[in-house]
Amino acid sequence: MVYSPLTNEVMPPTGRYKGGKKWSARPKGVRINGLNVHHHAATNDSGIRRLVTSNDPASANYIIRNNGSLIGSVPEEYRAWTTSAYANDDDKITVEIQNETGAPEWRISAAAMDTLIRLYADIAQRHRFAPVRASLKGHQEYGVATACPGPYLLPRLDDVARKAAALGGVVSGGGGASAPTPTPSGQAKLDVDGKWGTGTTTRLQQVLDMDVVDGEVSRQSATWRDDNPGCTTGWDWTGKTGDGGSPTIRRHQEILRDRGRYKGAIDGKAGPQYFTALQQDLGTKADGELWKPSTAVEALQERLNTGRI
Ligand SMILES: [Zn+2]
Repeated sequence: MVYSPLTNEVMPPTGRYKGGKKWSARPKGVRINGLNVHHHAATNDSGIRRLVTSNDPASANYIIRNNGSLIGSVPEEYRAWTTSAYANDDDKITVEIQNETGAPEWRISAAAMDTLIRLYADIAQRHRFAPVRASLKGHQEYGVATACPGPYLLPRLDDVARKAAALGGVVSGGGGASAPTPTPSGQAKLDVDGKWGTGTTTRLQQVLDMDVVDGEVSRQSATWRDDNPGCTTGWDWTGKTGDGGSPTIRRHQEILRDRGRYKGAIDGKAGPQYFTALQQDLGTKADGELWKPSTAVEALQERLNTGRI
């Protein structure tokens, strides 16, 4: 699950098209060589809902809000359904931009424009192509009958490419609330600090290839909260018996069960049995509790940084 280090929010599509994911694998061996640019033709969040939660066959790799916030939606290694035909998106990253004003001009905000410039520079740098205008395509430039990306943005794409080129390799550090530093593979490296917060959960969800990567461990039992101070941000302790717990913990319980470590119920609840199995799997002291900092969590973070669980 690769997203730009500039990403502020991660919102993979949760809508389903004909019961399946609404994005595709890229054709084998394809290299990313450009960015396809779209506008929402909407000033509110309806465009975001359409791409993320609706069952419409539409999705985008990135979405930019009027405030400049960059949403990572379809991970870059997958082809989003954005530019009228699969072939148009096979070798491109796609971005949809919220509008600041409506018809006829469909402006985008200065903050969104700035994010677009930095995103284009970043994508060009990571995928090793020159950030020139020819690789920055407005939707209608594919010969499609659409006004997208609108009369305001289309003539400004020359300027976007020029400014992206001027940024050169210096593209990080703008606006990102928790922008991780990418490793050469494009994956974020976790801090090995022994505290299991949203960053660790996000990475665990990526490694487990979960549909939803939100950094949250949902519906946990308050009974175990005080024994596990090493569980920090993103843990929800309002769960009830039988509510399914966290899908991420459930998936991990299945893996630990298959390794002969976990004997408890596959209930999505992180309790003493799960933590003991985790500690045994990691080869750390198996006392079923996560202290702050926890050597087990440090070992987990180190393992996740190798892309495994
Ligand atoms: Zn479009």
